[in-house]
Amino acid sequence: MTELSDPSPVPLPQTPRLSKSKFLSGLQCHKRLYLEVHHPSLATKPDAATQAMFDMGTEVGELARSRFPGGALVAAGYRQTEAALAQTVALIQDLTVPAIFEAAFLHGGVLIRADVLERILTADGQPCGWRLIEVKSSTKIKDVHVEDLAVQSEVILGAGLTLVSVSLMHINTGYLYREGAIDLTELFAIQDLSEAVAKRRAEVPERLATMNRMLLQTQPPAIEPDQHCHTPFDCPFWEHCTKDKPARWIHYLPGSKQVVSQLTQQGVTTIDEIPADTKLSPVQRRVKENIEWVSAKLGSVLNAVQYPVHHLDFETVMLAVPRFLETRPYQALPVQWSNHIEQATGELRHEDFLHKDMSDPRKVLAESLLESLGDWGSICVYSPYERSILESLADAFPSLKPALSRIVGRLWDLFPIIRDHYYHPAFGGSYSIKSVLSAMVPSLAYDDLAIKEGGHAASQYYRMVFVETDWVERAKIQEALLAYCKRDTLAMVELRRALKEKAQMKGE
Ligand code: SF4
Repeated sequence: MTELSDPSPVPLPQTPRLSKSKFLSGLQCHKRLYLEVHHPSLATKPDAATQAMFDMGTEVGELARSRFPGGALVAAGYRQTEAALAQTVALIQDLTVPAIFEAAFLHGGVLIRADVLERILTADGQPCGWRLIEVKSSTKIKDVHVEDLAVQSEVILGAGLTLVSVSLMHINTGYLYREGAIDLTELFAIQDLSEAVAKRRAEVPERLATMNRMLLQTQPPAIEPDQHCHTPFDCPFWEHCTKDKPARWIHYLPGSKQVVSQLTQQGVTTIDEIPADTKLSPVQRRVKENIEWVSAKLGSVLNAVQYPVHHLDFETVMLAVPRFLETRPYQALPVQWSNHIEQATGELRHEDFLHKDMSDPRKVLAESLLESLGDWGSICVYSPYERSILESLADAFPSLKPALSRIVGRLWDLFPIIRDHYYHPAFGGSYSIKSVLSAMVPSLAYDDLAIKEGGHAASQYYRMVFVETDWVERAKIQEALLAYCKRDTLAMVELRRALKEKAQMKGE
């Protein structure tokens, strides 16, 4: 059955050419591939955080090339296919080139660009084939990487080259940057996947043929959105495919996706249809009941805080390529904090800090924070994240460890308090600070801010500090970052106040 909401049929004169990424889309979902090929405008554009991940991947890819000195880049861009193919042939024929970056191959209707093709020589210096290396900014091998290399191998072998081995090059999070230049042999791990890829490659021709037949249909395949839409990647057509789903669609049930799978197999389509005897977690149960709930203990739990109550939030960046001494790839580095300080009288004061240059932010940030938090009062946070950041700062700076450890002892996490003592139907099962805030204090949303979520804050910080930006843009980003972090801590103040009112209304 074809969904009514799907786009109009289109005449399809011939099989479209596929790329490696389209093949991988097709493995995730044929409908995704169909929409990418025939109706790409229906995709949701990547958000700033996703775009920043792509940018970081590009930076990692470029750095990875330094591991192959003398290698040559196929300069023709992704839309200049004929030029890229011609440049690749020329570099293959030039025996002085030890490695080719972004080599282009076309075979069986599939076009690929290979991150690295390294020329392999025999013991007496004769070329005997190539090593194909895919570079990823991820920290471990995933199944999709094997699929990725399988389709590339199929195309390269089909184009007539000999592949001696196939490998994945990824970031090694065990690498600790000490000083001087980055040690590329430590930063990148290279793992031989020849055997696994060969097995998977055998399936590529049949899979491609099936995809090509599907692409010749005049309508997208009737595939219902499900768990597969988020694995291995979040599908950009999720909004399109789910736009007509009911507000209480079963896939909006939080928690174990296994429960959702079992329920959908039983024909359950909305949360309200879940049978009464279904085993649900406490959170799932509250979502199903869909009524406001206040625990009898909420008031006493809230009253356990000590004034002045600080409300603390960090923003961090995670750099794939470490820049500061004694840091590892993707280590969370705090660059900003905000603190709203509430006295017992209700008087509120705000302090904050933002590190604005390329130097190591951690020590100066930790010192300014210690000054702001002083020696007294509970420190309200909204996740275990702040604790982990404080502990990593304490490990990095032994002289600050005693003071930071005392700070850790004063932390008071609002998240489990809300999770265990209050529920509002408007949470929709999500206890993220944004969901909770928009349900309990709708006047204090994030809509008016230029930065609305943490991933965007991290990517904007990266641009401000590590990518060249003019001073006007820098000033704008600074202002947006400060406003965002400030909103997070003000949100905690207002949530505590709203919860106190709920407890009072319950008679505590
Ligand atoms: S949202 Fe799901 S069903 Fe729709 S195209 Fe994407 S993967 Fe397929």
